[in-house]
Amino acid sequence: MPSRNGPLAHRTARAERTVVRLRNGASFGGDALALCAGPCSVESESQIEQTAAVVAAAGANVLRGGAFKPRTSPYSFQGLRYEGLRLLRAAADRHGLAVVTEVLDPRDVEGVAAQADMLQIGARNMQNFPLLREVGLSGRPVLLKRGLAATVDEWLMAAEYVLLEGNENVVLCERGIRSYDPATRNLLDLSVVPLLAATTHLPVIVDPSHGTGLASLVESMSLAAVAAGADGLLVEVHPEPADAASDGPQSLTFEQFRSLAGRLADVAAAVGRRLPAPRLAV
Ligand code: PEP
Ligand code: MN
Repeated sequence: MPSRNGPLAHRTARAERTVVRLRNGASFGGDALALCAGPCSVESESQIEQTAAVVAAAGANVLRGGAFKPRTSPYSFQGLRYEGLRLLRAAADRHGLAVVTEVLDPRDVEGVAAQADMLQIGARNMQNFPLLREVGLSGRPVLLKRGLAATVDEWLMAAEYVLLEGNENVVLCERGIRSYDPATRNLLDLSVVPLLAATTHLPVIVDPSHGTGLASLVESMSLAAVAAGADGLLVEVHPEPADAASDGPQSLTFEQFRSLAGRLADVAAAVGRRLPAPRLAV
């Protein structure tokens, strides 16, 4: 069945595939993969600093960390908000990393864009149309996660909202969809990677952390995602996963992240891609 995605995201809208570049040289869609890593939530200065140091040395080029958290329960940790953003930015700068972080509310887009290199739209907000328009106007690249139950066409139409505001820098992120099976948190749909390559010019990355919910599955699914042609990964990493304020069970330890980065190089090379060069502390 032909895709009903809109004209701007369509493969035929551009002669070349889109490459989204961040200030520190990280790119999504080029020869080098984008390796985005960090905690689910920014919790403290030492937590984000330790994590930034380790992931940068292991080869990550983008630091992730939530300061505004979309939590199922309003009683759960909601994030450190602007203080979290400040800590995230400072840690990233110390290690040559770019920053990707979620913005939840159109009223915070300007404030988050002032600190972040890339704005994440979370799965729960994929169809928050006023928010999509606002990040479209922000001038910052956008990481658009797939909704919990979104079809590929709905996801591409969400991207269309951002593109329509004149923002061409949209990266799609597959993060798993709801299934009937509680064995994994979500069902990671890796078939969308080659499917989207045929349908859209936009880069696609994979988040195996939310996609599986289990740290033990993250390495295999990361390798599989890159083998399938993903332009990068978004992986949760925490100094002490057992003590994490959010998403501990799916967060890699430092050792597990080093192992993943070490094994990724060969798979990347097998599909004509490479890892970013390790960042040197500045
Ligand atoms: C996250 O990246 O921590 C997050 C909340 O992701 P998602 O929107 O995919 O659930
Ligand atoms: Mn998370």
